[in-house]
Amino acid sequence: MEGLGFSAAHFIIGHKKCEHLHGHNWRVGVTVEGEPDERGLVVDFLELKSLLKQLCDGYDHLLLLPAENPALKRLSEGKNIRISIHGREFEFPKEDVVWLPVINTTVEELARVVADEVVKNLSAYPNVDKITVLVEESPGESATQERRIKA
Ligand SMILES: [Zn+2]
Repeated sequence: MEGLGFSAAHFIIGHKKCEHLHGHNWRVGVTVEGEPDERGLVVDFLELKSLLKQLCDGYDHLLLLPAENPALKRLSEGKNIRISIHGREFEFPKEDVVWLPVINTTVEELARVVADEVVKNLSAYPNVDKITVLVEESPGESATQERRIKA
């Protein structure tokens, strides 16, 4: 399933060019595999789509920061979040920032976070065997994450 996305800013710590703050129109897609139920459905795509939309909305027009990167120093966190990366300081309003449980906000890591969220929400779908999440930051730059739901 394609066609969902969000606009967000990020940087990739330790990357010469991409360590500078910039943004993308990210795309998110999910493929679901499994045994169709008596209605011929593996999942209700409307429900899956609303879950993905909720996730995308949570990132949209925000700054995605990697919570687990040791080079990112949190200087202060109040109304504003002040951080330092390799001696360069940034300050952002708290409500503009999303901390992600990743070492860097890369397509690979975002695909993992989205896949984890989708799996968490798939317990209501016993027919799902496998999901594949695709995250794309620009055409041709994407990553996928597979999760087996059943053994
Ligand atoms: Zn980028």
